[in-house]
Amino acid sequence: MPAIIDQNLCHCCGTCYDICPQDIFGFRADEVPTVDYPDECWYCGACVIDCPVEAVRLRLPLQMHIVPSPANHGEPGTDQADALRQAAAFSRSVTEP
Ligand code: SF4
Ligand code: SF4
Repeated sequence: MPAIIDQNLCHCCGTCYDICPQDIFGFRADEVPTVDYPDECWYCGACVIDCPVEAVRLRLPLQMHIVPSPANHGEPGTDQADALRQAAAFSRSVTEP
């Protein structure tokens, strides 16, 4: 299952459900989303980056274990700081297959 939601962190905002281009999540108000179509995932990372509480991780296939480095996103600052945070969050999302 590519996307994994930490039920202890998720606050059921529905952002991952709204943002996923492949509609892999199921969502009902005030419930943690379900991963209904895991095989449809593109591994785009949108759900990881846009989750406000970093509750989503991706289990990447082995051949995709090249992840963006925060070092490639410049010095912390205004826009760069946000890019750095997003890259770091995505990197932390990677788990072993
Ligand atoms: S975006 Fe994060 S907090 Fe919101 S429903 Fe998805 S996993 Fe939960
Ligand atoms: S990585 Fe992209 S395609 Fe896969 S579940 Fe997240 S938003 Fe959807």
